[in-house]
Amino acid sequence: MLGDDTTTENRLRLLQAEFTQHQRRGPEPTGRTATRAEAPAPIDLGTLDYMAAAAAEMVRHTRAAAPGVDPYTGPLLGLYDWSREHTAHLTPERQQAREALIYRQGLEHAIAMGDTTVVRKHPCPACGCWGLQWGEGERKAVCTQHYCQDAGGLTHRWTLERLAREHVAAKSALTSRAT
Ligand SMILES: [Zn+2]
Repeated sequence: MLGDDTTTENRLRLLQAEFTQHQRRGPEPTGRTATRAEAPAPIDLGTLDYMAAAAAEMVRHTRAAAPGVDPYTGPLLGLYDWSREHTAHLTPERQQAREALIYRQGLEHAIAMGDTTVVRKHPCPACGCWGLQWGEGERKAVCTQHYCQDAGGLTHRWTLERLAREHVAAKSALTSRAT
């Protein structure tokens, strides 16, 4: 089985739970503003837009890969299963692309919750070190090895998409060696 389905789905579940909680807490009552700084909520209303965009991307990908599939109307958390179900007949390459997308969304969900350490669980695609760090502004994983530079002498920087592709490819190579 390819991919970390439980991870991506669990992260989405957490994200959704955080958002729901945030909604329930509602606006701060007046007079409590002085305490606001003590626990900044990692989640904001942009989370709803974020989740909608992630779901839309998944649906778009699935319907492009498997034309004729009806638009998805189920609950958000069933999305990844739905996508796998409707693309299970495709070539291994297409399925790998789907898994890379699901995996990338898992990384994005974690980062949306403030956990940027997920990028450190991937080796740098250039030097193989485990010293990647998340660059918030550029939204890329930056290699911290001073010698790890591209031809122009710049530090290597990787998109989450690239890390996800490498991860899924490595995993699939392991699987095929094992069988
Ligand atoms: Zn590197």
